[in-house]
Amino acid sequence: MRKLYYKWRYYRLGQNDYRKCMGILFPRNIIDLIYTNITVVVLSVLFTVFAIAAEKNYIKASFHGVTIIVSLIISVFSMYKYRQYKNGKQISNRLVLALILLYYANVMFIGFYLAVWYMTEKIAGIFIGILICALFPYVVSPVLYLCLTLAVMILYITAVILFKNPTVWLLDMQNALFAVAISLIFGWQIIMHRMISALNISKLETENTIDALTQLKNRRDFMQTLQRYILYHRPSDKFMCIAILDIDYFKNYNDHYGHPKGDECLCEIGKALNNLKKSKGIYTARIGGEEFAMLWHIENYSEANDMGIYVNQIIRNLNIPHEKSLVVPYITVSIGIHIAQCGIPHDINDLYNSADKSLYNAKNSGRNCTIISS
Ligand code: GH3
Ligand code: MG
Ligand code: MG
Repeated sequence: MRKLYYKWRYYRLGQNDYRKCMGILFPRNIIDLIYTNITVVVLSVLFTVFAIAAEKNYIKASFHGVTIIVSLIISVFSMYKYRQYKNGKQISNRLVLALILLYYANVMFIGFYLAVWYMTEKIAGIFIGILICALFPYVVSPVLYLCLTLAVMILYITAVILFKNPTVWLLDMQNALFAVAISLIFGWQIIMHRMISALNISKLETENTIDALTQLKNRRDFMQTLQRYILYHRPSDKFMCIAILDIDYFKNYNDHYGHPKGDECLCEIGKALNNLKKSKGIYTARIGGEEFAMLWHIENYSEANDMGIYVNQIIRNLNIPHEKSLVVPYITVSIGIHIAQCGIPHDINDLYNSADKSLYNAKNSGRNCTIISS
């Protein structure tokens, strides 16, 4: 259900992107802020020009003028600050926050003040249309945004037909349509801009989830992925497997061959696991010094055992000499696997601890083997 919901919310993005866009709620940085301010100013100018042309009422137009000047001051100030920022000057978070608040206060002021002032006027449709269309991209998804815009338009037209002079509502409808069209064009730009900046941020976050030595995912990513594995599975996935791998007698290896050689060994194992990820689609991560983890879905228990034996074999077949190992004179791993049923709520820490307990049992069973619990 949740997956479907996010898919629907961000249907235009790729499979992996929609989840990353969950956080698009408020302007994230000063560029975002400037972009928004410019959009609002352009919208306000269009609105004023249109209001003057439509009503030829200069007193009303001067109210718009004041609000536009405020918007302009905020925008110019933001841009000035941004220039300073680009030239290496630090901008305090407080100032950025103040600019964001000012911007919102200004838009809110324009919104409430003018909405009340013009509520009975035919021009109100244009303004409310623009305001709603310009603001909604901040809190809703593209699809919802489109639906809301259309809903507002329909509501407005209905109200106009019911409560206004028939000769006026035709013009109103025309105005409302015009407003919606303009806002859709600008609003869509805001949405795309925000999505792209959100995706760029999540790209940075991705870089924080990679282990520098082995290029596998790190512990942080593993725990997040484990959480996702609990939530998302296909109908054929009956169970999920959490495996923890630990290199046998690795302390001895380091002591004998030296730490740099130990690092090389970790890289070799990282590569082997990465291949496993490519060939079998299994999630792999380095979750600690010489500990790795795997996650995958299975249909029956025997698949877990087969995979454990297979991985033991792969690591042994790397033929990395380890004279000081008490198992065989090559690098081996012990694997603890925990099998959990899909579709019922699990605590990620419980799952992790169960797999860790299996690993402990594998170590006590002579190492270079796999122990499974469920
Ligand atoms: P066991 O079979 O019981 O797992 O024995 P072990 O010696 O592997 O277990 P232990 O946990 O005592 O030792 C882990 C060693 O892993 C300690 C440390 O020297 C080594 N190690 C941890 N992280 C790194 C790393 O990033 N690089 C290298 N080269 N060694 C590491
Ligand atoms: Mg260890
Ligand atoms: Mg070890």
